[in-house]
Amino acid sequence: MTALANARSSTRTRSSARKTAKAQKPSQSKTSPKRAKRTLPILATPAHAQPRQDTRKEVSCTVCALCCTYVAIEINPPNSVPRATELLWYLYHEGVSLYENDGEWMVQFETRCMNLLEDNRCGVYETRPHICREYSEKECEVNTEDDGQTFYEPATFMAYLAHRRPRLHAKVAAGFAPPAAPVGRAARNPLAFRRRLARVRALRA
Ligand code: SF4
Ligand code: SF4
Repeated sequence: MTALANARSSTRTRSSARKTAKAQKPSQSKTSPKRAKRTLPILATPAHAQPRQDTRKEVSCTVCALCCTYVAIEINPPNSVPRATELLWYLYHEGVSLYENDGEWMVQFETRCMNLLEDNRCGVYETRPHICREYSEKECEVNTEDDGQTFYEPATFMAYLAHRRPRLHAKVAAGFAPPAAPVGRAARNPLAFRRRLARVRALRA
């Protein structure tokens, strides 16, 4: 392992299950999601995430690199019809998923950082962004028991609503029900993130 690789995996200290940035507070207007996507990171530290005891071996960042292949931004929870359909709208897009943990919601975009090298080292280690410096491999979604849930498809999100918010679900289902299958061009690889997460987690066993 090179000095650069060592440094990359040794100094992150932030506590979070996901490498998450907080968008500026979204408005309730129809265009707020697009604005949130452009208004990228204001650093946030979720209060819920705490280090846990775990005796399994830790996955090295240089064999993982998962957190360098997505962007997660905190969003409003689905507590009204407009907000619930806003989250549905996210899930209508390729490579976009939702993550919920303890009432906090995030939208995740699967996209590889342009500075991630082929051998999983950070190519801009000395000048990497603040959020990368503070994220901890000891508390990330791979090396901890992440008890949040991820939604990759509209159907699973609707099932969550039906279980947790039945009245809201009824309104969304009545006027905004997602199709049983995509009606446009089918997603190319909607499960890519889920497979990669499972693959790197398996390395800890
Ligand atoms: S800047 Fe470096 S550490 Fe941050 S996401 Fe990109 S490759 Fe990863
Ligand atoms: S997800 Fe965890 S183990 Fe994987 S690269 Fe990021 S901090 Fe390292």
